[in-house]
Amino acid sequence: YPIIIPRSDHTLSRQNLSPNAVKVLYRLNKAGFDAYLVGGCIRDHLIGVIPKDFDVVTNATPEEVNALFSNSRLIGRRFRLVHVTFGREIIEVSTFRANSAQDDDTFQKNKPQDSLKGKDSARSAHGIVLRDNVYGSIEEDAERRDFTFNALYYNVKDFSIHDYCGGLADIENQQIRIIGDPRQRYQEDPVRMLRAIRFAGKLDFEIEEETAAPIKEMAHLLDHIPPARLFEEVLKLLGSGNGAKTFHLLRQYGLFKYLFPDTEALLQSGWKREDIDPMAFILQGLENTDKRIQSGKTTAPYFLYAIMLWPSVALRHEEFQTQGMPATPALHQAASMVLDNQVASTAIPRRFSTPMREIWDMQFRLPKRYGKRAFILLEHPRFRAAFDFLLIRELSGTNLGGLGTWWEAFQFANEQEQRDLVRSID
Ligand code: ATP
Ligand code: MG
Repeated sequence: YPIIIPRSDHTLSRQNLSPNAVKVLYRLNKAGFDAYLVGGCIRDHLIGVIPKDFDVVTNATPEEVNALFSNSRLIGRRFRLVHVTFGREIIEVSTFRANSAQDDDTFQKNKPQDSLKGKDSARSAHGIVLRDNVYGSIEEDAERRDFTFNALYYNVKDFSIHDYCGGLADIENQQIRIIGDPRQRYQEDPVRMLRAIRFAGKLDFEIEEETAAPIKEMAHLLDHIPPARLFEEVLKLLGSGNGAKTFHLLRQYGLFKYLFPDTEALLQSGWKREDIDPMAFILQGLENTDKRIQSGKTTAPYFLYAIMLWPSVALRHEEFQTQGMPATPALHQAASMVLDNQVASTAIPRRFSTPMREIWDMQFRLPKRYGKRAFILLEHPRFRAAFDFLLIRELSGTNLGGLGTWWEAFQFANEQEQRDLVRSID
């Protein structure tokens, strides 16, 4: 290692790359630094997937990179790096890093002089790496990456690809293989278990045996990951166009219950009601989301979370009503309870939990269409999402007496037809 594939022997050319990424590479190069493209963009191109973003690595420090680009800013704490902005495109530039894991000195706390040498790392009591800003060589940088296919580097100097960990062979064999000792790498960062699943869902690759083996027994380490980070990971896992498949994989590997404990418990219990089949509903929701994304549409994060938690809301709603609470307060109480429980696993920002509540609330308002109500509901900012949600409920087998069809017609009718539709209800 490295295996070096010259320009003539691979299909990656400047035409496949973001012109802005190329600009960044050249600018760094001209200033005397090494600069490579790395990670997802190289992997995806070699597999035949169009890369969604371009990551640059260099031997320049973040400060040096920042000084080189007026359109850049320093970000991050866990990983310090630079964002270079071109309109809506952001090119992420990071500095070669060494894996601080083997560095026993830094296990507890940094010595003051370390920060002067660019040494800055920290771990939690569980051995999870909290900060990882120890700079290193390209070889070290490759070794601290997660999977072999993510440690492929494209050198702008001669347009060659450098493979430090056997990623090309693993792409050939369609395998997801973690770099180094799987247990140690999951211990350092348990999110790598989720990333293995994410790539399995996205790329349709097998998780190599030794990479897969410890996941079930180490899944509980996800309990130590900040809920805000897990919130983001869930969006990538379930909201990238392969949600249904990824959902099955997450459950199969025992990871799902650390992301959605209530939902997992409910699925395990086999609880079902005439108007809701939790498994059918979640799958229908994920499949619909997948279709939307695959056809180039977007899905709001709150919609995805509203789907995943709806069965729990329905269960709690019933429980509160059984205790004698009227339907509407019972629903609000149920929503609060489910959200409160969920944020311990994946922090849901308020700008998402508010629309989630609205979607749930609307499920009980959409049937009430008499008088001016239908016209008012149509103007509700969450109408469209609530209507889509309702359709998913119907598609998953819930009989709502043709409510979806009625609203479909009402939305696209003229005023006279709308009045007729309202009259047709009673
Ligand atoms: P995507 O297509 O989802 O963006 P990606 O591989 O680019 O996939 P990123 O999260 O953008 O994923 O990370 C960029 C690169 O950083 C990865 O390819 C990998 O080399 C490295 N990396 C990311 N997360 C980790 C991690 N938890 N542990 C080790 N390396 C990581
Ligand atoms: Mg990426």
